[in-house]
Amino acid sequence: MIYMDNSATTAIHPEVLDAMLPYLQEEYGNPTSKYYLLAENAKKAVEEARQHVATLLGCDVDEIIFTSGATESNNMILKGVSNYYGINGSSIVTSQVEHPSVLDTCAYLETKQSKINYLTVDNFGRVNLDDIKKALTNDPILLSIIWGNNEIGSLNPISKIAELCHMQDTFMHTDATQVVGKMKINLKDHPGIRFLSLSGHKLHGPKGIGVAFIRKKTKDIYTQITPLLHGGGQENNYRSGTLPVHNIIGLGKAAELAALNLNRNGHRLKELELTLTGILSDKFGEKIKFNHDTSNKIPGILSVQFIGLNNELLLKKLAPYIAVSSGSACSSSKPSHVLSSMGLTLNEIRQTIRISLASTNTNEDVSFFENL
Ligand code: PMP
Repeated sequence: MIYMDNSATTAIHPEVLDAMLPYLQEEYGNPTSKYYLLAENAKKAVEEARQHVATLLGCDVDEIIFTSGATESNNMILKGVSNYYGINGSSIVTSQVEHPSVLDTCAYLETKQSKINYLTVDNFGRVNLDDIKKALTNDPILLSIIWGNNEIGSLNPISKIAELCHMQDTFMHTDATQVVGKMKINLKDHPGIRFLSLSGHKLHGPKGIGVAFIRKKTKDIYTQITPLLHGGGQENNYRSGTLPVHNIIGLGKAAELAALNLNRNGHRLKELELTLTGILSDKFGEKIKFNHDTSNKIPGILSVQFIGLNNELLLKKLAPYIAVSSGSACSSSKPSHVLSSMGLTLNEIRQTIRISLASTNTNEDVSFFENL
C-alpha cells in the first residue's frame, strides 16, 4: 500500500528505531536517578537528544521541555500562561483554523472566564497582519497562531507576527507541528516567539513524544507558566513525570536526521508535489480543484476537491491501495473547520481529500494517480 497521509503520522525512520531499541531493552535506567551507570547512561542520552532538538530549532537546550506530544504542549502553554497571568480571566488571540488541541483548550478557558479572540482567515487559511495588529491593541496575554496548517499546508507570516508581539512584549505561541523537519526554523531569529509546540511522530520519530519550546527570557522578561502536570518537576519544573527515555532518544535521532537532510528533503517534497499536481491536472482537468495555495506553503501537503465525488466513499475505495485522508485525523468525524473557515461550502468540503507526502515517497507512488 502507498502511504500518503504523512500529516496524520509518519513512518519511523529505521535509524530512529535502531537508536531507540537499547533504551527499551538493556538501558532501562531512570535518568533522574543518580551515580550508577544505568542512570548516568540514560541521563547522557536524554541530554544528547535534547541537544539535537535544540539544534534543529536554533534554541538553547534548557528551552526544550519534553512532553507527550503537541496536544500536551498546546494544552500546557495555553492553560499554563492563562493560569499564571490571568488574574480575572485572561485574553487570548488565536485563529479559527488552529488544531483542535488549541481550539478546544481555548473553549475550555472560556468556561474559566478567559476572553478568546478567534481571528478569521483568508481563502487559503492565513491570518491577516492588520487583524493581528488590531487584536494586539487590546493587550492580550497570549497570541497563539499555527505556523503551517495541517490540512491545507498554508504558512502564516510567523516572523512578522513574532516581530509585532516582540515590539509590545506580548507572549506568542506557535504550533509548528507540521513545519518542524520540513522547513528551516531558527528561533534565535525570532525572539518574539516565546513558545512553540512540536510532535515526534510528524518527523519520522515515535508517537507519544513532543516538545514545548519555552524561551527563558526576552528583554529581561522571564517566562513563567503554571505546570499542567505537577510532581517531580523533571523537566525544568515545567513538567513532571518519569522521562520516556526511548521516545526521547527516538525524537532526538529524528531531529538529528531532519537537520542533516533538511534541504534535500524539502527539495524532494517540492519536486514530488509538483509532479503530483501535474499528474492530477492532466488526468482530471476540470473535474478537480485545488484548495491549497501554490506558494508560501509547507511542501507536500495537497488539498484537492474531486468534483461530484463524496470524499468518504472515495477514501474507502482507495483504501486497499493508497492511504490518503479527508482532512485532519484529529477531527475526522466532523466537516473540516479549516476548510469552512476558508469559505468552502459543505459540498466542497465533502468532496475534498488531503494528500500529504513524505520525502520517502517515490515517483512510482505518485504515478498511482495516473491510473486512477
Ligand atoms: N497540532 C497540529 C498542527 C497537528 O497536526 C497535530 C497532529 N495531528 C497536533 C497538534 C497534535 O499532535 P500530537 O499527535 O503529538 O498530540
